[in-house]
Amino acid sequence: MLQTVDVGKRSLAAYRGVAPDTILDDLTRLAEIFRGARVVHINATPYGGGVSELLRSVVPLMNDLGILTDWKILSGDDPFFQVTKKIHNGMQGAPEELTTKSRETYLANAEKNARLFEERYDFIFIHDPQPAGLLSFRGKGDARWIWRCHIDTSHPNRAIWDFLKGFLADYDAAIFTMREFIPPDFPIRPVAIIPPAIDPLSPKNMDLPARQARQILAWIGVELDRPLMTQVSRFDPWKDPLGVIAAYRLVREEVPNLQLALVGSMALDDTEGWEIYRQITTESRNDPLIHVFTNLTGVGNIEVNAFQRLSDVIVQKSIREGFGLVVSEAMWKGTPVVAGRAGGIPLQMADGAGGLLVEGVEACAEATLQLLKDSGRAGDLARLGRERVKEYFLTPRLLLNHLSLLLDLSKGRTQPRGAALQQDPVCGMAVEQPASEVATARGRYVFCSEECRRRSQTDPAHYLGQAA
Ligand code: UDP
Repeated sequence: MLQTVDVGKRSLAAYRGVAPDTILDDLTRLAEIFRGARVVHINATPYGGGVSELLRSVVPLMNDLGILTDWKILSGDDPFFQVTKKIHNGMQGAPEELTTKSRETYLANAEKNARLFEERYDFIFIHDPQPAGLLSFRGKGDARWIWRCHIDTSHPNRAIWDFLKGFLADYDAAIFTMREFIPPDFPIRPVAIIPPAIDPLSPKNMDLPARQARQILAWIGVELDRPLMTQVSRFDPWKDPLGVIAAYRLVREEVPNLQLALVGSMALDDTEGWEIYRQITTESRNDPLIHVFTNLTGVGNIEVNAFQRLSDVIVQKSIREGFGLVVSEAMWKGTPVVAGRAGGIPLQMADGAGGLLVEGVEACAEATLQLLKDSGRAGDLARLGRERVKEYFLTPRLLLNHLSLLLDLSKGRTQPRGAALQQDPVCGMAVEQPASEVATARGRYVFCSEECRRRSQTDPAHYLGQAA
């Protein structure tokens, strides 16, 4: 059997007063159709990184809605995860190659896991490239298979993509975080665009009184009387931790008592992490105001919560990004953010919400300095950020999007009144209270932001399915 992750119980009722009521109502209504259905999510690791973060909330809430949902982990060893890291990087455009041996390692793992995957389900969500090969070896059965890609695969390395594509043709649907991420000649139809979301009630995101947050940071060695800039991220080249150190050094020329915290977790399948960690510690060795923390030295969810709450600025200097949950996490806590214009980050920070978008070390330093010096402006941006997260980036909206896709895949089931969602045609999100609308001869379109509306107008044929 594949290993099951135990996620305990959670109640959707607890989200009343936190997430928008309209979303909770629609979700409850839609879930009625799938009561008793069996769903499984399969990914590579039970902790570390955004996918496990998501599943930890999605899976128990689906169960609370009466949908029998499991979370299972692909089994794999070091050589396998080295191959999947290559595939991951190659799918994000890095110049990787897969030797014959690497291909065999991937295939052998898929075959082994397909044998371990014994249970029957109605809907099978396969997350990212690591478990993508399962379907080819297990066969579809009577389940609907959905490939959920969390990374930016808009410009994949050709050789890697040709290899991975061979495993995808039989899937019934795919989900991407952004339309722009769909790789060329993508073989799966339909494709749903669904941005991820954060859980406002998890230990990482729940309310944490300032006094306790201060106690937590002081206890692990942060000096509370100095300003603090923080990046919370896996130690990964795409998150550019060395660029963050360089930007910090520039800001410190103006704010000499500034501290930097780099908070990073090591994931089970992240063989590169240790090398980046070594580079960071070498780079910061002679600077006592740079703190490097990891989950392995006890910095867990509550500590991340405290960092995201108490930092003067949260930086997320990604060069490539899938979505970047950390951005919504910081915005939810009302903390101003400086973030790289990459992947799903501009969607989260659309219309100026949350802080400033940047490209490059100098811009990152300049924006951080601006927010440190102008707390009034920083506070205004941060307030907008929290409102935007409440409306669009909390788990119930994600569940609503998922169930809407399952409904599309379940032709023949009766659709209840009001089950059809309003979705932003650009970012794909379920939109209850549109920030913007466009009426065309084909109908009315709703948008989560002015940004999405503007983008729809740059290519109406693509986004709205009509002639420009
Ligand atoms: N994270 C954490 N501890 C760390 C670093 C990261 O708990 O030391 C969490 C972070 O809070 C977020 C997730 O890992 O929930 C990272 O998700 P994101 O989408 O930002 O990036 P990914 O790692 O999936 O590329």
